[in-house]
Amino acid sequence: MNRRSSMGEEKKNRENVILYPSPGFGHLLPMVELARVLIGRYQDLLNVTILVLSLPFDTGSTESFVSSVIAANPLISFHFLPPVDLSHLHNPRFDDSFFGIIELSKLNVLSFLSSLRPTPLALVVDFFCTHSADIATQLGFPSYIFFTCCASVLVTFLHFPKTIHNTTRSLKDMGKTSLIHFPGIVPIPVDHIPIPWTDREDRVYKTFLKISARMAEVDGILINTFDSLESKSIQSLPATGAFARTIYPVGPLIMSERGKDKGGDDHYFEWLDMQPTGSVVFLCFGTMGTFSPDQLKEIATGLERSKQRFLWVVKNPPHLSDTKKESTTHLLADPSLDLLFPDGFLERTKDKGLVVKSWVRQVAVLRHEAIGCFVTHLGWNSVLEAICAGVRMIGWPLYAEQRLNKLFVVDEMKLAIAMEGYNKELVTAAEVERTVGKMMMMEKSEAVDGVKERCSAMKLAAESTLGDGGDSMLALDELVRTWGIQK
Ligand code: UDP
Repeated sequence: MNRRSSMGEEKKNRENVILYPSPGFGHLLPMVELARVLIGRYQDLLNVTILVLSLPFDTGSTESFVSSVIAANPLISFHFLPPVDLSHLHNPRFDDSFFGIIELSKLNVLSFLSSLRPTPLALVVDFFCTHSADIATQLGFPSYIFFTCCASVLVTFLHFPKTIHNTTRSLKDMGKTSLIHFPGIVPIPVDHIPIPWTDREDRVYKTFLKISARMAEVDGILINTFDSLESKSIQSLPATGAFARTIYPVGPLIMSERGKDKGGDDHYFEWLDMQPTGSVVFLCFGTMGTFSPDQLKEIATGLERSKQRFLWVVKNPPHLSDTKKESTTHLLADPSLDLLFPDGFLERTKDKGLVVKSWVRQVAVLRHEAIGCFVTHLGWNSVLEAICAGVRMIGWPLYAEQRLNKLFVVDEMKLAIAMEGYNKELVTAAEVERTVGKMMMMEKSEAVDGVKERCSAMKLAAESTLGDGGDSMLALDELVRTWGIQK
């Protein structure tokens, strides 16, 4: 059945697609971009509704971001799900609250979706919300997962039940360098596997096991990646029997320049305007990347000794927070820089560097011509944003799946070099100085040679895949055709 609307421009006559991101800016952002691309390509035919979970902890100004998206995109609407009661959880860890909210919100999602007329075309859920795909099945429309990490990480997710769960021991009890073999990707050392996967007795391990098993049953998986970046892993997914239905690589979906992010004071652009082309080392570690006071001092000393220009986004160290353990508010509170840095650091480096508290508009910064390289925690959005800007990276994985990303982005794609010592408790000033120096001075070495050229080439490939006739747009068209919609 062709469900194309013949009723012209009216919002109410378009078909509705529901997107359901999990909590966190890094998950909301790519979903919003997916909505923008859908609306942009199917202007007369689709509306998108994005479901937003109400969180008991602050993740920054989601609401102001949402307002700016609505103002710029009348065909995207947001439905805020009601808060849920988590008081039965005693001393919850962050992940208990995170998964608890998603689980308890299922009834609210069901109630909202079943009230919609006509029935939505499809439900696209973030992989952390995989179990909410059951609701679409119950209501009789297809469900898809939007995977906001890379295809190689998806390989590990889909093979998790067989590869990791079939081993008899917890990975944490094996040697750190023991290798885990997933079909279709490089062997993974145990100490690069995400921590929640390493303990079979942990509640979150069991949650991931269930998510992985359920993921294999949805109608399709969209991935925020693109063919020229990860063709081998993308092709390995059906080839290794990991997923029997269609995989749609639809990326790179990064915040479009039209979108304003969390706003705030943009003074750092004036500073960047005064710096020579390609001269600035940009350090920024995602929404949650924090360092101990000792580590901050080592970074500061290393940067100063490297004599490179730098723009550094600094969040409060976790222990300086006086807020609740699971809150992220402290990350956005102004850190007191004088307390954090070595004596006189800010004064001595004032002609070379700028420290910004908590947040910058990263996409716009990366596109500034003064940026020479990006020291990043390798969160997947940050990696894609660097690729789209053609900026070479220094990878310093901190949490979540970022150590896996280090293996793929540094060792396989060779779009980055690793921060020396990233695998130790403390990265020393000498390691920071050496790594930054190597990259900025284009040291002649196996790790650094060709990184700049590969980044420039991948930027062009990213532009091409998003253009008309590009692989990612063809994948999106193929998906929308299965809903009976033709342009
Ligand atoms: N971000 C930003 N400014 C900051 C820190 C982060 O704009 O100061 C954005 C960044 O551009 C990216 C997202 O927040 O889009 C972080 O996502 P990523 O996957 O890189 O890391 P996560 O925060 O999920 O670990």
